[in-house]
Amino acid sequence: MRIAALIVAAGRGSRAGGDVPKQYVRIGGATVLQLAIDAFAGHPAVTTVQAVIHADDGALYAASLGRASQKLMEPVFGGASRQASVLAGLEALAATGPDLVLIHDAARPFLAAAMIDRVLAALAQYDGAIPALAVADTLKRAGAGQTIAGTVDRAHLWRAQTPQGFRFARILDAHRAAAVEGVEDFTDDAAIGEWAGFPVVLVEGDAQNVKITTAADVADAQAKSEGDMVMEPRIGTGFDVHRFAEGSAVWLCGVEIPHTHKLEGHSDADVALHALTDALLGTIGDGDIGQHFPPSDPMWKGAASHVFLEDAARRVRERGGRIVNVDVTLLAEAPRIGPHRPAMQARVAQILGIAADRVGVKATTMEELGSIGRREGIVAMASALVLLPFSPPPDHT
Ligand code: MG
Repeated sequence: MRIAALIVAAGRGSRAGGDVPKQYVRIGGATVLQLAIDAFAGHPAVTTVQAVIHADDGALYAASLGRASQKLMEPVFGGASRQASVLAGLEALAATGPDLVLIHDAARPFLAAAMIDRVLAALAQYDGAIPALAVADTLKRAGAGQTIAGTVDRAHLWRAQTPQGFRFARILDAHRAAAVEGVEDFTDDAAIGEWAGFPVVLVEGDAQNVKITTAADVADAQAKSEGDMVMEPRIGTGFDVHRFAEGSAVWLCGVEIPHTHKLEGHSDADVALHALTDALLGTIGDGDIGQHFPPSDPMWKGAASHVFLEDAARRVRERGGRIVNVDVTLLAEAPRIGPHRPAMQARVAQILGIAADRVGVKATTMEELGSIGRREGIVAMASALVLLPFSPPPDHT
């Protein structure tokens, strides 16, 4: 039994953001298209993998292929519509005469072998089989002005996915006939089977088999890929102290708080953001705030300290890291922190691009003990937890 996979990757879809068509966007280390190719090339029953690409994408395609497979044929160029592209792929495959074909949209990179198995199993009995999910949401039909015109019975409604499997000769004939008759508004291949009048059966789809369409889909897919990656937790700590000087407000966690004094420093002296910056730098072993922003450099005189924390967050993200949470404790007799805590939490969360409940802001007095107890300044202590892609330690043997 010869089973071909036909991957349709000729679309221009740019709703996913950026200049690159979505099938060439990278998820983890591989492009969306590469992941789809891998799913078929790695399936023991599939003998041939044929991609259909846009005529402008030859270089993108070549650069996209990180992994070679003997099952993978030279790509063919698609047509003006998805339907035309599928036909181009089927005609290319006709030379090798497969028994079955699995037609798949490249924008679905997360397909499981078990679902391919379900489609293939159904083809023992039917000319066509597609994976689909029962509609779980209640469906409304909108009328004028977005008011509801009716509720649609969802009992027999399914959401079609790919790969859609067919006996090769049946779907090739149907596609050729549709092209000859100029019927070209089919959005999937099952619809062509229906039009040609052969039975196509529904098999259980897979909720993981999502179609990547928007920039949010890309972000979700990247998060999922991170979930499959081995991440290791990294912890960092920071400590800073600034003394009081004559003034009328202090900056703490990026929030200006009226006070009897200001904090003295080269920058805005935001002791809390400085400790947080060092904590983040500590998670990646990348020096400290003084190394990256030397007080001797006039450029940082009076600087708003959020730039230091943003820089540390950027360094973490450049290494593929994700900030899990940060926590800061202020030691001060005054000012009172409690009333400002929500604003401080929100500001740090905004600077780091994380949720506010991932930011701890706490304060304690020193019971009038020591220099802090004598109201000579404020201390900040911070911790940060980051997840980084695991890299094995160097071999010391
Ligand atoms: Mg400082």
